[in-house]
Amino acid sequence: MLYRACKVMTHELGHMFGLRHCIYYECGMNGCNHIHESETRPLYYCCICYRKLQHAIGFDPWERYREIVKVCEEFGGLFENEAEWFRGRLADLEATFAALQSKYPQPTLGVKKN
Ligand SMILES: [Zn+2]
Ligand SMILES: [Zn+2]
Repeated sequence: MLYRACKVMTHELGHMFGLRHCIYYECGMNGCNHIHESETRPLYYCCICYRKLQHAIGFDPWERYREIVKVCEEFGGLFENEAEWFRGRLADLEATFAALQSKYPQPTLGVKKN
């Protein structure tokens, strides 16, 4: 019941922030016409809907994924698979960030030398 409610809330919150039904990937924003489609719809958003939501409300992706992982672990049960998926996205983010940092190191801030 809690798992189904979270799926519906995730979907409806997406609509509240301007997202339409997703036709690109398996996604929490996929439309559904019957219970089977609702059951197979994931709790998470695809990469396209995720970026649309981030643009709409401006969250920090690391913080969002960390908090969602915590909640999924706390709920357990059906949320375990979702926690695994969100941990994977968090790992992807950290790997991408590390690769970008090594490719484009930040200039060190300090006293300008003449
Ligand atoms: Zn809808
Ligand atoms: Zn989507």
